[in-house]
Amino acid sequence: LFYFKIILGKNGVPVAENFRLEQSTISDTIQAGQVRVKTLYLSVDPYMRCRMNEDTGSDYLQPWQLSEVADGGGVGVVEESKHDNLTEGDFVTSFTWPWQTAAILDGSLLQKLVPQLVNGRLSYFLGAAGITGLTALLGVREKGHVAAGANQTMVVSGAAGACGSLAGQIGRLEGCSRVVGIAGTDEKCSILVQEMGFDAAVNYKKGNVAEQLRELCPGGVDVYFDNVGGDISDTVISQMNQNSHIILCGQISQYNKDVPYPPPLPPDTEKIQKERNITRERFLVLNYMDKHEASVLQLCQWIQEGKLKVRETIVEGLANIGAAFQSMMSGGNIGKQIVSISK
Ligand code: NAP
Repeated sequence: LFYFKIILGKNGVPVAENFRLEQSTISDTIQAGQVRVKTLYLSVDPYMRCRMNEDTGSDYLQPWQLSEVADGGGVGVVEESKHDNLTEGDFVTSFTWPWQTAAILDGSLLQKLVPQLVNGRLSYFLGAAGITGLTALLGVREKGHVAAGANQTMVVSGAAGACGSLAGQIGRLEGCSRVVGIAGTDEKCSILVQEMGFDAAVNYKKGNVAEQLRELCPGGVDVYFDNVGGDISDTVISQMNQNSHIILCGQISQYNKDVPYPPPLPPDTEKIQKERNITRERFLVLNYMDKHEASVLQLCQWIQEGKLKVRETIVEGLANIGAAFQSMMSGGNIGKQIVSISK
């Protein structure tokens, strides 16, 4: 059994060395209500950067404590159960899975998974058929004001990432007539267009983003799925139409800085937002728990029908989870960053 301990930091870029791998043992016996699980997949996500601060800036996020085992989304298999609803061989998931190869967990904190829903691709429950997919779907539905036939143009930043790649496809499925992505490499941009059905994509690290967007969105922007914030978002907002909508999903360009969430817009951008009556409401997927079950079924149906294309970047081994987190935070992933722990 391995686990990690972390070193906290308020500003600065997270690195693999923030995490330490240790070998330990778990008890041979489990108590009533508990299960012993083997970990199959762990998720690394941008919100974990906030958990590396003493104050996460959010009441729903607890800071990781120095020298305690880190945790996050995980999927595993039950190897022994003393919980009434779980038996050996069940696949289960939790938002608070410890970064360990095996663990003894409270069975009541686990959700049972149905592998057939994702054609046996269990890691999808951490991505397209999990919180990531829910974020994309509910973000679009709750804050996007997408209406079929309304000839809307959607722009997605962080477009080749886990949420972004799904959000653009869902924008199209829900009725946007044009979907344009913004991502950090040419390879990502070509995957968005060739595989994911985006109409166009802009590499924000090359050329003039404002000019390219103006060409690619001649009718202006009606819906902006914002994963990144900062300069990219200021550029997009400057091209948004009257009465348009920002889906404020995340602001990853600001997570290594000591700023509140959501960071306020710079004065010029805020002026545009107000004058054009652009909505920018905070969106948090956890506020829509009552819609999660039906929405996961919708996502799984689209995946099975081939309407939602899913990409993953999989790193092998618990020893590499810190590096996987660092890589995801700096653009190393296409689609969902997953860490495969055991087969
Ligand atoms: P992700 O997009 O798969 O991975 C992060 C990506 O962000 C990287 O691949 C990188 O791609 C991009 N990035 C990193 N630094 C950047 C910068 N300074 N400027 C522009 N892009 C940058 O991660 P994800 O899990 O799907 O999360 C995406 C966003 O959704 C995050 O902001 C996250 O906090 C948010 N989120 C919100 C909720 C919610 O309930 N509101 C739930 C889940 C996630 P490039 O190569 O394009 O730079």
